[in-house]
Amino acid sequence: MYNRASSSGNSLLKQTLEPLILNHNKQTETVYGYIGNITELAKEIESLHKPGDPEYDSLQEHIQQLDGCVREYLDMLRISEGHTKTLQQIVESNTSDLSKLEETYDRLSKANTAKPLDDDSIKQDEMYQTFRLEVLRVHDPTGELDWNKPQDDDEIMLTQQTLVVTCPWTRTHFNDPIECIRCHHFYEKSEAISRIRKHGYIDCPVAGCSEKRILEANLKPNPKMAYRIKQEIARIEKEKREKAAQQAVELTDD
Ligand SMILES: [Zn+2]
Repeated sequence: MYNRASSSGNSLLKQTLEPLILNHNKQTETVYGYIGNITELAKEIESLHKPGDPEYDSLQEHIQQLDGCVREYLDMLRISEGHTKTLQQIVESNTSDLSKLEETYDRLSKANTAKPLDDDSIKQDEMYQTFRLEVLRVHDPTGELDWNKPQDDDEIMLTQQTLVVTCPWTRTHFNDPIECIRCHHFYEKSEAISRIRKHGYIDCPVAGCSEKRILEANLKPNPKMAYRIKQEIARIEKEKREKAAQQAVELTDD
């Protein structure tokens, strides 16, 4: 379909592929949403009966089915993420020879999607762990996954790390968070991009971070974190609404 090699080839390629990459990332976020919904459903099913109740065992069959769904979604994401990575590699390769594009895509995407998800890598996945952990904690609020018991204090620290939900510049809740791949801090995408375009670069504004001269190429979407950040924002906003409603009731009571 492309039969010429030209210097404008790469910018054309960038223009064509970047919206595709964005779409892929949005889809990934949507699938994380599905896994979140399945987790909520599994929690509700689990809470219907207590361990030891005669009906409890039959509930576990349903939970197992939902576990299978989560695994299937994760495998879907593995393939979709392999293709996103392929598109990114092509954009970053700065190729201007479009004649070999199809061949390159085939070769890279085969490599990026080759490794199937085994049980161990599923158990290391954060979304899967959240699913299992939240179901477990319906009846055992301090329960830990038996394959993932924290070994030392460092790991405990890591799991208790708070999720940052506001942009360090705008101080408002994230709408479209983007990650700096050098220091792993998040910024509101439009804010970071407009600052980079204005000044040529940004210094990370997060207190205590020494990362300087960050460029647009250092910013990457992180759909998994974007999903978690948005979940947390939704939780905070719901809490705020409930508190406001409660205060309104108390005021009318006075
Ligand atoms: Zn930083």
